[in-house]
Formats: sequence, structure tokens, C-alpha cells
Amino acid sequence: MTNAKNSNKSKRSKESKQSKQSKQSKQSKQSKQSKQLKQSKQSKQSKQPKQSKRSGKQQTVLLIVIGTVVTTAMLVILYFVIFYDNKNISQITDSSGLNNEAIQAGALEETMDNNMICFKDTYIQLATGEKATPEVLNGSIDNIKNWQSTDNSVAIVSENGEITGINAGICGITAEVEGTDKLLNLRVDVSAESESNIDETEPDTLESGDHETIIEDGVTYIDGIMMASKTFSLPADFDPGVNEEALNAFYEMQDAAAEEGLDIYISSSYRSYADQERIYNRYVEKDGKEAADTYSARPGHSDHQTGLTFDLNSIDDSFGLTPESDWVKVNAHKYGFIIRYPEGKQDITGYQYEPWHIRFIGVEKATEVYESGLCLEEFLGVDSVYKD
Ligand SMILES: [Zn+2]
Repeated sequence: MTNAKNSNKSKRSKESKQSKQSKQSKQSKQSKQSKQLKQSKQSKQSKQPKQSKRSGKQQTVLLIVIGTVVTTAMLVILYFVIFYDNKNISQITDSSGLNNEAIQAGALEETMDNNMICFKDTYIQLATGEKATPEVLNGSIDNIKNWQSTDNSVAIVSENGEITGINAGICGITAEVEGTDKLLNLRVDVSAESESNIDETEPDTLESGDHETIIEDGVTYIDGIMMASKTFSLPADFDPGVNEEALNAFYEMQDAAAEEGLDIYISSSYRSYADQERIYNRYVEKDGKEAADTYSARPGHSDHQTGLTFDLNSIDDSFGLTPESDWVKVNAHKYGFIIRYPEGKQDITGYQYEPWHIRFIGVEKATEVYESGLCLEEFLGVDSVYKD
């Protein structure tokens, strides 16, 4: 029994042990599991699985961003490297451009200076065999090139501008001003040696209507006078600006008038083809074409495009009532000017009386015209009528 008891005891004890063990083991297992679970939970919680997932995404985005930034930075650097090179190149171009500009400005200044070069006289008289070199204003004759005679049987010209009379007759001398588009014209009257002292003015020639007409680059010169009227037009690109010789002549006349206590001044001078186009179109709009044609020139037909014309003081009929107008009427020719559209000549000049509008043709011609009492058209034996 004792054994049995013992055995039982031991059995129980065993059982109990086993049970204990199993319990413990179970507990331990449970505890372990729970611990693990807890730990795992804690660990999972501490790791924060959602964030961890997000962090992965962020890393990818970050990588992309970094990649993009790096690529962009490299591109920017590359761009600047190229740009810098270009800039250097363009700086070189710029600096050379500036140099060119400076050179151009210098050339322009010289061109502008040269643009003022002109002949002192519109024509010269020579006897056969006689030599003369035209006087040059506002510059050196060395800047005048490509001298040419329109008729070598009348007069020849050297490359230095020395003109020699060959046979009696009239011809033109042309020359170019260096560095400009300016073409200089000079009329040469060559008389036979024996006659050289006889003829001065030639009213016979005027009456016979014997006038020398030269057309050069679309510009008509009759007896050396540039023509712009309803009959004679100037090319649209004929753009001479104010003629310096005419302007200087005006200043002389202005001084002379001032000495008499009179005030004359220029109100309008050179007008380009485009200027005249605007003015004429405005008048046509306002008064109609027929009326506009009586007082405003069509583009290309304006006397103002010659650069030899000035409108004085108040450009209206009231000027004709001033002492200035009276003075200009009888003195302008002494300075090379004529009243281009005199009173009572409307049917011939094509324009109403314009006491304010003076035109430079040189002292000699202006004096002839003034003394003749004729308007320029009558003097030259031409009309002033639009062809259409
Ligand atoms: Zn005018």
C-alpha cells in the first residue's frame, strides 16, 4: 500500500509534476507567446508599420526628386557653361559691334560732313581752251570723285575736277561726293574764244526757247535748274535734304533784311516724298482733289522736295501784306531766290500766288528771272500741268 500509496503519491506527484510542468509549460508558452505577441505588437507598434510603408514610398519619391534635382542641376550647369561660352562669344561680337558702331558713327559724321559739300556756283563760263576748277563749299575738293562731263566735245574734266573748255556749247559736269550718295552737278557754258567777252545774259536764247534739258537719275534740270512742278516730278527716293548753299544764301538774306529792321524766317523747308504724300492726302480728304491740286503738290511734284525751297514767316496770304513780303519780292534775287509762284501767274505755274514761297536757283539765274518779270515756267519755256 505504501508502495501503492507511494506509487500513487509518486503517480500523483508525477501527474502533478507533469501537470505543473505542462501548466508551467503552457503558462510559459502562453506567457512567451503573449510576451512575444506583446513584444511583437510593441515592436510592430514601435516600428509603426503604416509609417514604415510610407517611408518606403517617400524614399522612392525622394530618390526621384534627388535624381531630378541632380539632373536639373547638371543641366543648369551645362546650360551656364554653354551660355557663358556664348556670352563670351556674344560679348566679343558686341564689342566688335560697338567698334563697328563707333566706326559707323565716325563714317556717318564724315558722310554728314561730306553731305554738305557743294559747288559754290551752279554753273561756270569758259572760253575754248580755258581751264577752271569749280569752287567747293563746306569741304575739300579732294572728297569729290568720279568727275565726268556729259559732253566731252564741249568740255572735259580731269580726275581732280579741272574743267577745260573744248568747243562752244553747253554741257554738264557731274561728280560724286566720297562716302555719300550725293551727286554734284555743274553746268558749263563754253563760248568760242572770240565771243567770250561779248555774251553775258542771253535773252535771245530765252526767246528762242533754246534750253538745255538734262535728266539725271529721274531728276530734270533745265539750264541747270532742278525742276519740280506739275509737269516735272522727282523720284520718290530723291531725298537730298535742305540744300546747304540755299540755306547759307537764306541766312545772308535774313541778315540783310534784319539790317532794315525786318524779320524773315523759315517756316517750312525740305519735305520728303513721304511728307508731301501725307500733306497732299490730307488736303484731298479735306477739300477734294481738284481744289487740293490748286495749292498743294502731289507727292513727287513738290518744289519743297528739291531742298532748294523755303516758306517764309506766316504761310498764308497775310504775309503778302507785310513789309517783309515787300522786301523779299524786290531783294530775294540778290541772294539767288525767286518767288516761285508769283501773282497773276497761276495759269502758268499751276499754283495760286504764294508770296512766302521762295526757291533758290542761284544769283545769276534769279536775277535774270526777276528782271524778266516772268515766272520760272515762262522763263524756261515750259508748262506746269499734270499729265493725268
Ligand atoms: Zn511752299
